[in-house]
Amino acid sequence: MKVFLNGKIVDEEEARVSVFDHGLLYGDGIFEGIRVYNKCVFKLDAHLERLEYSAKAILLELPWSRAEISDAVCETCRTNGITDGYIRLVVTRGRGTLGLNPYNCSNPQLIVMAQEIQLYPKEFYTDGLKTITVPTRRNGPGSLPSTIKSLNYLNNILAKIEAVNAGYMEAVMMNDQGFVSECTADNLFIVQKGTIYTPPAYAGALLGITRQIVLDMARESDIEVVETNLTRFDLWVAEECFLTGTAAEVVPVTEIDGRKIGNGTPGPIVVGFMETYRNLVSRDGTFL
Ligand code: PMP
Repeated sequence: MKVFLNGKIVDEEEARVSVFDHGLLYGDGIFEGIRVYNKCVFKLDAHLERLEYSAKAILLELPWSRAEISDAVCETCRTNGITDGYIRLVVTRGRGTLGLNPYNCSNPQLIVMAQEIQLYPKEFYTDGLKTITVPTRRNGPGSLPSTIKSLNYLNNILAKIEAVNAGYMEAVMMNDQGFVSECTADNLFIVQKGTIYTPPAYAGALLGITRQIVLDMARESDIEVVETNLTRFDLWVAEECFLTGTAAEVVPVTEIDGRKIGNGTPGPIVVGFMETYRNLVSRDGTFL
């Protein structure tokens, strides 16, 4: 694989950052995960806007314009011959000293990787995914705002470990108050009596690009959407539940904590969204 690193395309073996980089030492940096469908980068501008917001929030001044980052993304895809794939865009704080002070870091690193996507098993989309709530909490807005897509994923990783150890691929994370936040790498929605509910950013949810697309799709179909706090009870008794994410797309959930969701098969609303989303990705995007 070829990797874009600070203005140059290099072999992956040569794509190295300093051991003094605060991205490595402290998870001090930000990232984006982006999809390519049929040689088109999907929602590139929305991802770059979120990257800029994340950078601003952590006072990391991006020395590259949006157009330069966009070119780096497209060049990396073209060089690796990607038709359908997954892009990882990373910006680290750069090389600093062993202390925390980010003002000692002068040289942020821009890294772009692109490869074929590893998808969830097909059965998840036809039969639904089973998941559990786990003990590790999502960061609340008073600690690390979930709206910053930072390199700091340790509590999500602990939650993932808890899921995998229990035999599940994804976990539902709560916040410190016991309200539902999201999954380790996906946003969560439920449907109850024809209305769609999803946790807001203040409950610890990332403002996912796919989440926003689903909210827009729902409004276009005149389905009421409410962003509000949800409890585990709300999940257990939901008629439908589904997850959204750039990699996962829209995936139905048919069991949570041993409770069947609805009748235990993907419901009509999520099935409709899965189809609309598939249509959207096939006709939208920045051509490589
Ligand atoms: N929540 C978390 C914690 C994530 O890392 C992601 C991205 N994988 C999402 C939600 C989904 O966001 P998006 O739709 O922008 O990929």
